[in-house]
Amino acid sequence: MKPRYDVLVIGGGPAGALAARTAAEKGLSVCLVEKRPAIGAPVRCAEGIGKDALTEFVKPDPCFISAELKGAKIVAPDGTSMRLDSEKAGSKVGYILDRKVFDRELVWQAAEAGADVAVKTRAAAPIIEDGSVRGAVLRYCGETRNVEAGVVIAADGVESKFSRWCGIDTTVPVREIMTSAQYLMTDIDIDPYTTVFYVGNEIAPQGYLWIFPKGERSANVGVGISGLKSGPGHRARDYLDRFVAARFPEGKTIEHVVGGVSVCQPLPCTAGDGLLVVGDAARVVDPLTGGGIYNAMFTGKLAGETAASAIAHGDCTKSALMAYDTAWRESPMGKTIARNWHIKEYFIRMTDEKLNAIIHSVSTMKLEEFSTLSLVRELMKKNPRLLGDLAALSLSLR
Ligand SMILES: Cc1cc2nc3c(=O)[nH]c(=O)nc-3n(C[C@H](O)[C@H](O)[C@H](O)COP(=O)(O)OP(=O)(O)OC[C@H]3O[C@@H](n4cnc5c(N)ncnc54)[C@H](O)[C@@H]3O)c2cc1C
Repeated sequence: MKPRYDVLVIGGGPAGALAARTAAEKGLSVCLVEKRPAIGAPVRCAEGIGKDALTEFVKPDPCFISAELKGAKIVAPDGTSMRLDSEKAGSKVGYILDRKVFDRELVWQAAEAGADVAVKTRAAAPIIEDGSVRGAVLRYCGETRNVEAGVVIAADGVESKFSRWCGIDTTVPVREIMTSAQYLMTDIDIDPYTTVFYVGNEIAPQGYLWIFPKGERSANVGVGISGLKSGPGHRARDYLDRFVAARFPEGKTIEHVVGGVSVCQPLPCTAGDGLLVVGDAARVVDPLTGGGIYNAMFTGKLAGETAASAIAHGDCTKSALMAYDTAWRESPMGKTIARNWHIKEYFIRMTDEKLNAIIHSVSTMKLEEFSTLSLVRELMKKNPRLLGDLAALSLSLR
């Protein structure tokens, strides 16, 4: 590790890897630091991603794809289900990744592009001079080292501290943290080509429960609930255990994951003097689905490009780096987050009766397009009052 780089990336998840790869490809000197001893482990993710979304950043490779999906099913509180088929969906359907391999592949690509990578290396504090971020204090096996950089990219995930240390308010309201529990289960009867989502206040209050296939008889089975609904006897794990006992009594759990997902609006500002904030650290998870892998890669890549341009122009001030903030907010990703936050706020207030009614209304229909937007559009066609309610939120659903 050198004492100074053009770009220092904090965190080796998808956001940090894309930021490091992009900046290195642009010819910058880059260092990525990851506090864990191994990239990609432990996994805290259900590992679902759309095909188009993945291929925008990386060539799909069987070594990091556990399952290729053909459809999805949504199950109402009363058990009625609706199916989203992929027959006409082309590349809109998804994959279930193996993130232990996937995250490593992304960091590998960053290293191949020329980035230095240091694992078991934690950013412990920013170096700040005259109000600008100039690098970070790093800890590695009891040693402390100061590393300076033109731009620091905070890609330190949902528990991000780095940008807070730099003066950015990263607080997420408790009700907008989805607390999650997930088992990787095997020896269970599932449809290996279909993801299943269960909704309802008994099964997952203000969230949902998922079965994401990982093979013929294996799946990520998990549940996310609002932090506000969590308490003794009704934590995410309690909901998951009840479901698993009823649905997969003979299944075997080979991995247990707990984690939080922010389903709030993004940070009001994701750039500072010498600083860019990306991925979960920037709170750019899709608030409706809880999906954040694509958004992490998207913001990571954009941050790498913005850092390269700022360094080429010798201007790493906040006003130069704000180009990143503006670009992602104006992108389809940024607009989807803004729209889906409102839709999420609407759906979490629904009673089970209302959820049953709207799923009944579309249960016999086959959706031609595989996306949350197409689903919401169809729900509105069948439920004109829903259209009125959402219009009141000034949403554009075009
Ligand atoms: C239960 C669960 C299920 C999910 N399911 C899905 C899904 O199916 N599909 C989907 O798209 N998204 C899903 N997500 C969200 C997805 O996992 C995240 O959005 C994605 O990992 C964000 O990538 P990231 O690079 O921003 O952060 P992360 O992947 O969290 O990477 C951040 C990295 O920074 C490191 N780090 C933190 N602090 C420091 C420090 N001080 N110094 C050095 N390194 C540091 C961490 O160790 C970590 O490796 C799920 C999340 C959870 C919790």
